[in-house]
Amino acid sequence: MYDSLELINEDVKKCTKCKLCTLGRKQTVFGVGNPNADIMFIGEGPGADEDEQGIPFVGKAGKLMDQAFKGIGIDRNEVYIANVVKCRPPNNRNPEKDEAIACLDYLRNQVLVIKPKIVVLLGSVALKNILGEEYGITKVRGNWIVKKDIKYMPTFHPAALLRDEAKKIDFWEDLKLVKAEYDKI
Ligand code: URA
Ligand code: SF4
Repeated sequence: MYDSLELINEDVKKCTKCKLCTLGRKQTVFGVGNPNADIMFIGEGPGADEDEQGIPFVGKAGKLMDQAFKGIGIDRNEVYIANVVKCRPPNNRNPEKDEAIACLDYLRNQVLVIKPKIVVLLGSVALKNILGEEYGITKVRGNWIVKKDIKYMPTFHPAALLRDEAKKIDFWEDLKLVKAEYDKI
């Protein structure tokens, strides 16, 4: 058990637990935001812009998240944002199972330190690695799943909205549910 996010990040920075540390990443991307956040957003892994800047969701998908935060009236600085893997997968491919398994301990510890009440799972990679392979994003998105006092809301990954405009409506509906729940805290 870690006492602080900084201590977890110290281990992440020197981590060599999976092959992503040798596949061209420039730096690790730990997470950003309020260490006492009531709400966390979890994506897949860093892309090129995140790898360059060391901050999650600062590229195209990040811009879309910023619009979404603005739209529902949540300040990016009040939430915490992280990914399943902390190192960029080459060519923006999905993290492979062994990589996600190797890295997941860091995310679990981030959750233990932050103690969010709500966790928004952005896309299939976050959903399957955090709640289990049996879940499918298209089926469960928009539905609260409660485990160990945390309310999980699976929804589409913002990058999926860039590929398929039709998903934007569902994404927006899901985030409105999140905001309504967040307002109750
Ligand atoms: N996509 C993700 O899943 N995470 C990021 O940080 C950026 C894009
Ligand atoms: Fe370590 Fe995670 Fe990076 Fe793999 S992705 S090297 S487990 S920090």
